[in-house]
Amino acid sequence: MARWGMVIDLDKCTGCQECTIACKEENNIPHGSPEEQRRRQDPYWHKVIAASEGEYPTAHIEMVPMPCMHCDNPACQMVCPCKATYRRNDGIVMQNFRRCIGCKYCMVACPYGARAYNYKEQEDLPYDRIDPPLRRDLIGNWPFPHRAHGMVEKCTFCFHRIEKALMEGQQIGTEVVPACVEACPAHARTFGDLDDPDSEVAKLLSNRTSITLREAMGTKPKVHYLTK
Ligand code: SF4
Ligand code: SF4
Repeated sequence: MARWGMVIDLDKCTGCQECTIACKEENNIPHGSPEEQRRRQDPYWHKVIAASEGEYPTAHIEMVPMPCMHCDNPACQMVCPCKATYRRNDGIVMQNFRRCIGCKYCMVACPYGARAYNYKEQEDLPYDRIDPPLRRDLIGNWPFPHRAHGMVEKCTFCFHRIEKALMEGQQIGTEVVPACVEACPAHARTFGDLDDPDSEVAKLLSNRTSITLREAMGTKPKVHYLTK
């Protein structure tokens, strides 16, 4: 069984946020109005944050892309009273939309701010206007479960792409990757099986210096950052 993970090269990331937009579109996440953005009710499953060190004029700013870390020891799973969040055998931390009651315990427990409360009904894709045989090819995220408003959502490493690739015998990590990895114009992101020594992610981690965020919390993230 694979253990899916991601490696992000902070020296390559330009902070363009293409990954954030790719995630929104791929997962059918509603766009907030300016008023909703002002009230912080515009949900994101992925963010790029600016981490600064030092003072002007010698300050150093690093752009840090932040998907869910898909922790091997996820804090969110421990506190969920409904078993709506769980870790799959392949390491992906999932959200069961039918079980979530929107209590937000997981949002408080997650040390990475990776979860988003859904203030709006998910916008449906226009399936009925597309020929059924074409749906899978035209819409990468079909069939994605419908999400009512009032629940907590999060990045799934585009698990629907992984499932489709496994069914069709495609190579995950080369032929098929999550939307944020595919969209990154700087090729800063790599996806694959962390336990496969021949995978690109494993090679990057063995050849370069890397960190995970908030290691002291014991969450064991599967998103690793390459840095000098
Ligand atoms: Fe960085 Fe790539 Fe995301 Fe742009 S798309 S912010 S370069 S990781
Ligand atoms: Fe859960 Fe947060 Fe870890 Fe993602 S980053 S698995 S939401 S604790």
